[in-house]
Parts: sequence; C-alpha cells; structure tokens
Amino acid sequence: MKKSILCLSLLILLFAPHLKAELVEEEAPVVILGSGVGALTSAVYLSRAGIAPVVITGPVMGGTITQSHQVQNWPGEVAISGVELAEKVKHQAEVNGAILLSEVVVSVDFSKSPYAITTKSMIGSHEQEKRYKTQSVIIALGATPNFLNVPGETGSKGYWARGVYSCAVCDGALYKDKVVTVVGGGDSALIEAQYLSRIASKVHVLLRKGEFRSIEKQRLNEVLSTPNIEVHYYTVVKEIKGDGERVTHLLLNDTADHKNWELPTDALFLAIGSRPNTEMFSNQIQIDPAGYIVLKKHQETSLEGIYAIGDVADPEFKQAVSAAGDAAKAALQAQKYLSSIAPKSPSLAKNEPSLSKKEVIEITSKEQFESELHQSNGVVFVDFYSTYCGPCRTFAPLYENWARDYGDRIKFLKVNANHLPELFREYQIQVVPTLIIFDGKGKVIRQGSGFGEISEVGKRLETIKGSANVTPQEFR
Ligand SMILES: Cc1cc2nc3c(=O)[nH]c(=O)nc-3n(C[C@H](O)[C@H](O)[C@H](O)COP(=O)(O)OP(=O)(O)OC[C@H]3O[C@@H](n4cnc5c(N)ncnc54)[C@H](O)[C@@H]3O)c2cc1C
Repeated sequence: MKKSILCLSLLILLFAPHLKAELVEEEAPVVILGSGVGALTSAVYLSRAGIAPVVITGPVMGGTITQSHQVQNWPGEVAISGVELAEKVKHQAEVNGAILLSEVVVSVDFSKSPYAITTKSMIGSHEQEKRYKTQSVIIALGATPNFLNVPGETGSKGYWARGVYSCAVCDGALYKDKVVTVVGGGDSALIEAQYLSRIASKVHVLLRKGEFRSIEKQRLNEVLSTPNIEVHYYTVVKEIKGDGERVTHLLLNDTADHKNWELPTDALFLAIGSRPNTEMFSNQIQIDPAGYIVLKKHQETSLEGIYAIGDVADPEFKQAVSAAGDAAKAALQAQKYLSSIAPKSPSLAKNEPSLSKKEVIEITSKEQFESELHQSNGVVFVDFYSTYCGPCRTFAPLYENWARDYGDRIKFLKVNANHLPELFREYQIQVVPTLIIFDGKGKVIRQGSGFGEISEVGKRLETIKGSANVTPQEFR
C-alpha cells in the first residue's frame, strides 16, 4: 500500500511569484523560526509556561532529523525514526498550545524592538505575506550540509540517508564491522574517521589535496597511525554507486595521474562542512566568519530578547539532543526576558495563549471513522496523509489551524495511510495529502489532492469566517 500511494511533490506550487501578496500584520509574544527538534522543544517549554509561541515551520516540518531513518541516541528511545521523533515533539508542543504555521521567513528587521519578521505562506496560489511584531525571537533555522554534487548522492536515485550521510555519530552505528568512507580534508573528516574506526572494520578517507587542512596535529597523527584507517590523497569522488537499495562502491578519480578507479564501500560520510542558514541575519546580529550566530551566554545573541539554538549556532556538536538542550535554555531565557519587560510592553509580553485550540481527531479504526462521519451534524473534513510524506507534514499545521478557527462548525479528522490502508482503498486514494469533505450524512461532497485544492478550500473557508453555520453547499 505504501508504494501505491504517491506523495505529491508540490514544491512548484509553493511559490507563485506572479501573484500579488497581501500583507497582514500580527503580534506575538515570541516567534520561533524553524520547526526542527530545537524549535519544537522551545515551543513545548514556552507553551507550558502559558506563552503561546508562534512557530514558523519553514519548508521542512520537523527539521533535519526527519531525514534519519533511525535515531538511536535520543534519550528514552532505543530506536525511533526521525519523522516519528519530530512528530512526537510537535504533538507535545501543540497540545500545550503552540501555534504552528506553514510559513517561511523571508526577512527580518531587528533594528529596533519590537522586532519584525516577514513571512510568506507556503501553501496556496494566493501567496500571503505576514509581518509579526514580537519582543522575543528564537532562531532555530538549522544548517544545510554541503554536498559533493555528484551522481548517486541526492535526488530520487541518490543514496542520501541510505548510505550517504553527514554525521558519523548519528549513523555510524549502522555500519558495525563494515567498510565505510569519509570524504573531506579538515578536522571534521579526521574526527569522523576516528569515530568510525571504532565501529567499522575499515575506514577510507578521501581528500582532494596532498595534505590535511588540520589544525589539530595530534589528532592527525593519531588518525594516520590507526591501523584500520587508510588515507587516499589527491582523490575526488566522481559517482556514488549502489544496487538501488544501498551503496556498494564509489567511482573515484586520482587527480595526480588522472585515472579513475573503484572503491568498494558500504557507506560514505560527507565531512565537507555545512552552511548555517543565517544569510538573512547578516548585518542584523553578530555572525562569525563561518556564518554561525555568535552566542554570549545561555543562547543569547548580540541583541536583547533574541536567542539562537541548535545547528544555526553550533559549529561543534550538531545533535538533535543538543539542539533540544539549547532550546530549553532559550525558552527559559525568553520567559525571563518577557517578564522583565512586561510593564513596558503589556500587549506583546502577555502570558495568555491568544487562541484556544480545537483538536484534529486522528482516526485509529474503520469503526471510529464511520461513527465520526455519521455522528456529525455538519460538514466533516478528512485529511488522508502518510507518515513519510513531506507535503503532508507541510499541510498539517495549516489543517490544525483550520481546526482551531472552524472547529466549532466543522469536524476535522485525519487518516494515516500507514495505519488504515483499507480506508484509502475504499475512497480510491492514490495520492497524499488528499482532502475529502463529507456532508453531515457521510456523503462525499468534494475530493482533491495537492496544494492547489488545499488553497481553494482555504479560500472558501475565508468566505465563511464570520458565519454562524457552515453548509455543504459552500464546498461543492
Ligand atoms: C541524515 C541525518 C541523520 C541525523 N541523525 C541524527 C541522529 O541520529 N541523532 C542526532 O542527535 N542528530 C542527528 N542528526 C543531526 C540533527 O538532525 C540536527 O542536529 C538537528 O536536527 C538540528 O536541529 P535544529 O532544530 O537546530 O535544526 P533543523 O532540524 O535543521 O531544523 C531547521 C528548521 O528550519 C526551518 N527553516 C529553514 N529555513 C527557513 C526559513 N527561511 N523560514 C522558516 N523556517 C526555515 C526548516 O523548515 C527546519 O524546520 C542527523 C542529521 C542528518 C542530516
């Protein structure tokens, strides 16, 4: 079933530059930028403290950890998929009152307080701009790993996260007694190689030049004298090859004698750096030469009330749990800061969640589905989604916000393809996310997939915002 359902790749519809954007202004006590484990953990802390933060999810709901098939170093979980881990933290944030928005930050103005953050909606052809005014910001935009840009690395036929990784501590344990390869010529390549040499039977290290750019000479000597590490100088990766499921070997080029050769390996670890997502903050807060946000203490940036957490400010560790630790500190700092300025700025620093939340009901059985449909006096929305579908995760916060805004007049359900494939068969759903709207008697009045459809339904919801009743006719 999993294979027969298509996860829509709808990115082309995310941004429609030809349409004129309208600007809406809103206020929020704290705005969290990003929705990785860092951002979501801050959201848990703040919402539990009675401050409903606005979370701008950005393009990857759940963040980088969702690329990991198996996380084995998150406290309390022996092994959990990254998607499931992020989903759990997201759920925890939402039940406590965090407001997640499927928007992307396009610019910030930190020149004076309250700070201004401009976002664009990621869903819909009527791209809407919003400007949030806030006293406090938590920046959790992560970092983007550098890639080799060779065939077999990323894309639908690539082995990214299936044999090609950027973090040995995260994924090295999968290669016990196997042959692995590290590419890179700096200290991080040496650290990754040393770490992997204690797990794998053999570690190859590939570097373009004739020497390492290492500043830690002792570590370099240790690596060079480790028996199961072999260094290949003047070597570049031309292609990553595999059997469709896993990496089997690398096509390499020896740049000294211009000859190609093949190296059998089970995994390739990229140690060629990453770029923190901080371009939009240059000239606004202090950033180091490598692009990381400079911290004073306890996640404080160079500006009062603005905190940075996780990979965006961490050139060293880049772990989910360290991002979560940063996040707890930043949230507590933001609370303290808001209390300190509360008398000066009552409206922005108020501790009351501004919006009450209506839940989307997760359907767990066919019987429950039938009963929810038929026990409804009015219109019922159903989001048919699947756990591993990126666009579904992008749609989820918007759907939850619909539930918050219209939950008193419309019932909102969701059905997961991984748990209830029989309902997908019954309604002939081949693509996720699919939205089906039922009348109060269980009859389908509208069915559609993709962000175009979601946007159309969103527009119709806007037109009934002030109405006391919602009739099926509105959605036909
Ligand atoms: C393949 C892989 C496997 C990993 N496995 C592990 C593991 O097993 N254990 C472990 O501890 N760590 C692991 N890591 C590292 C871990 O994922 C990161 O350290 C962690 O996710 C960092 O969290 P973060 O909150 O700082 O940022 P991220 O999780 O990177 O989140 C960044 C967020 O910023 C958002 N964003 C970006 N641009 C914008 C914008 N313009 N506007 C709004 N939002 C934006 C994105 O949508 C995203 O939600 C792994 C990393 C990878 C790549």
